[in-house]
Amino acid sequence: MPIHVLPDELIDQIAAGEVIERPASVVKELVENSLDAGASRIEVEVERGGIGLIRVRDDGRGIEAAELPLALSRHATSKIASLEDLESVLSLGFRGEALPSIASVSRLRVLSRTAQAPHAWELGAEGGERAAVRPAAQPPGTTVEVRDLFFNVPARRKFVRTEATELGHIARLVERLALSRPDAAFRLRSGERVLLDAPVPAAAEEQGAARVRAVVGPGFLEQALPFEHQAGRVWTGGWLGLPTASRAQPDQQFLFVNGRSVRDRLLMNAVRLGYRDVLFHGRHPAYVLYLTLDPQTVDVNAHPSKLEVRFRDARQVHDFVFRAVAAALAETRPGGAEPRARTGPGVEHATGAGDSAAQVVGGGAHAASGGAHAAGTGRDPWQLALAVAHPPVQASPSAAAPAGIAETAETAETAEGIAEGVLGTPVAQIRGIYILSQTADGLVLIDMHAAHERVLYERLKAQYARAGVPSQQLIDPIVVSLRPHELALVLEQRADWERAGFELDALGPASLALRRVPALLSGAAAAAVVHDLAHTLAEESGTPHLQDATDRFLATLACRTSVHAHRELTLPEMDALLRQMERTDRANQCNHGRPSWVRLSWGELDHLFLRGR
Ligand code: ADP
Ligand code: MG
Repeated sequence: MPIHVLPDELIDQIAAGEVIERPASVVKELVENSLDAGASRIEVEVERGGIGLIRVRDDGRGIEAAELPLALSRHATSKIASLEDLESVLSLGFRGEALPSIASVSRLRVLSRTAQAPHAWELGAEGGERAAVRPAAQPPGTTVEVRDLFFNVPARRKFVRTEATELGHIARLVERLALSRPDAAFRLRSGERVLLDAPVPAAAEEQGAARVRAVVGPGFLEQALPFEHQAGRVWTGGWLGLPTASRAQPDQQFLFVNGRSVRDRLLMNAVRLGYRDVLFHGRHPAYVLYLTLDPQTVDVNAHPSKLEVRFRDARQVHDFVFRAVAAALAETRPGGAEPRARTGPGVEHATGAGDSAAQVVGGGAHAASGGAHAAGTGRDPWQLALAVAHPPVQASPSAAAPAGIAETAETAETAEGIAEGVLGTPVAQIRGIYILSQTADGLVLIDMHAAHERVLYERLKAQYARAGVPSQQLIDPIVVSLRPHELALVLEQRADWERAGFELDALGPASLALRRVPALLSGAAAAAVVHDLAHTLAEESGTPHLQDATDRFLATLACRTSVHAHRELTLPEMDALLRQMERTDRANQCNHGRPSWVRLSWGELDHLFLRGR
């Protein structure tokens, strides 16, 4: 075959192969065009999973009749004119490829009317063959109708899954778009079914939360912490799901960079790191996070579907997001605020009537009543994303190093004048598991192990960071038998062990001599803890995160120590534990993200017993 130039129609179809993978890709391109046209209301209608019909209607600025044919031409755009524009592009589209590509693989119709035009105009195209521009009837704005997608490209059709699957992709996509722009109303219909209805509340400061409620669901907000953080021209904010509301799937993770939904690995990793202390293996945080920064410092051009972005200062952006998330989560400790989250493990009502009465206390306290974050300032994180020009908010991670649980004297002296702590006065220990405590407004149940584990972990981390975990020399070394691979791993991680207060040596291929142990390990428990710890670490080795290794080591040490510490506590010891919890970051959940305490108010108790006022 001699060299020849490809016909336009074929070029469009090739381009379509890259951009239009499935019906959801069409929806994405059309809705983005509507947003770029300044629409405040966008309606999406689909039939048969988008294969039969996709119709997107908006109230944006419209297209002039004379420009309609251009809108369907390749590399024709109204959004950029120069390379300079490209560098600071804020519109969602700019390649001028979407409409011609879609037109080349479907039966397409564009109806549009500008505010000044006396009536609308329409232009149809079938497999890229354009008809003539004709007058039409519709209010100002644009409607794009796409029928019989891929009717002329059977190879493509084969990759389209069932209608239900394609509809699922469309719904997930519209949700992301709706979250990216809480100031525009969205509605998605499939045939007669309304899949999403997200209006815009009149009060601007409620838009962000209202949108999150409409898209992610009201349950998410009740168990999420609003947060925000700013440094110079970089701002991040949104809602972080409480560790106690973590999920088995990463299905509620929404990231937006300059108003664009992304699935950027760097950012996802930064958030994951921010959660690492409060969430362990296999659980996924839920979050809605907006990041706003100078468009010149981010390249949205890196990927044709624009899901990955490239940051000029990737390392800094990563650290900024990581710190913001970690600092916000550090606040999840029993605070002065009234806990209000209404989900989680409930106390069953004796008669089965009424709703669950116990309240999980994670930082729902903050979500409902303020805390130190956005909610407390009465501002909406989304609104702040729009106006990055407010004074920076200080996130304040505090590094409390509480005393050991038996050291009541020291605790009393460092009690920092908390008159009566949120966690109240302990009354009894129940089944060796729970502490029952009484406060001015109700009862509190504390999971001893979960609480103790967190207190120990936070203390170990602080001591470890200062290379000062107190330890005690043993007169007679303790000998622990291990399996050879466990022993090998201990020796490999020796530096961690030593820094955590151990001094150890191999005694042959399967036993270990301990000459010095951390002071928090009382003699008898030391062997059992070390045995457990070596075993657990060996089980978990092979899981990648190298950078988390130290934290994991300390967390496992805290966990195994607190398990073996299980015993009868005296009331002063219980009191010491509660006071430490009140001063410990992240104390609302154990190292595995389980809640460490629940609260039952007098009102709820009365309700349980059907007592009137
Ligand atoms: P791009 O969005 O990259 O510019 P498209 O092929 O998606 O390319 O659209 C081409 C042009 O058509 C846009 O630049 C815009 O001027 C116009 N257009 C498309 N959709 C709309 C709409 N819903 N409202 C107003 N103008 C639109
Ligand atoms: Mg476009």
